[in-house]
Amino acid sequence: MFIGHFGAGFAAKKIDNKPSLGTLFFASQFIDLLWPIFLLIGIERVIIDQGNTVFTPLDFIYYPFSHSLIGVLIWAILFGLVYFSFKRNFKSSVLLGALVISHWILDLITHRPDLPIVPGNDFKVWLGLWNSVILTLLIEGFIFLAGAYLYIKSTKAQNKKGKIGLWSLIIFLIIIYAINVFSAPPPSTEAIAVAGLFQWAIVAWGYWIDRNRVNVI
Ligand SMILES: [Zn+2]
Repeated sequence: MFIGHFGAGFAAKKIDNKPSLGTLFFASQFIDLLWPIFLLIGIERVIIDQGNTVFTPLDFIYYPFSHSLIGVLIWAILFGLVYFSFKRNFKSSVLLGALVISHWILDLITHRPDLPIVPGNDFKVWLGLWNSVILTLLIEGFIFLAGAYLYIKSTKAQNKKGKIGLWSLIIFLIIIYAINVFSAPPPSTEAIAVAGLFQWAIVAWGYWIDRNRVNVI
């Protein structure tokens, strides 16, 4: 799942308007922000296998540190603790921890059997939405658009930057998603990792948008 995670980040603004959109994206996409780094330093592995599922050619053969359930729970607690140590806001810290976990749950819905529960154990879980292109597009598209709608309703642009910044991000993410879905498989795992690193820029984009919008709820 890709834009669905950003949908979850957008939607969280409706529940708690204190954290910036950048922080919400940071949490909802946290383990996919770690993953390309772990690929590049060689502690996790992915291979390209055309037809692995109809939706993606990526076979996530080994990613226990970023994507095991136990790993994600630890990251969620750490994320919440670090936020709390800066902001002293318990409610927001819990919400951000929950957003980190939401990533794993959304991945669980989409992936083939590749998500481990405990690092080092072969038992893996999945629900396999990626075996249907149409269902994936419908469900992930709905999560993204519903989340974006909730963010738009919860905030108001303070200036042109707040409006153009937000709409350009929504369109940008939809275009990137479409390219991912309909283009040829990536040339190498290094290319996947490097492209994955660009997601950090989307987090920064979220901070910039949020600075130029005000909460209306
Ligand atoms: Zn993921």
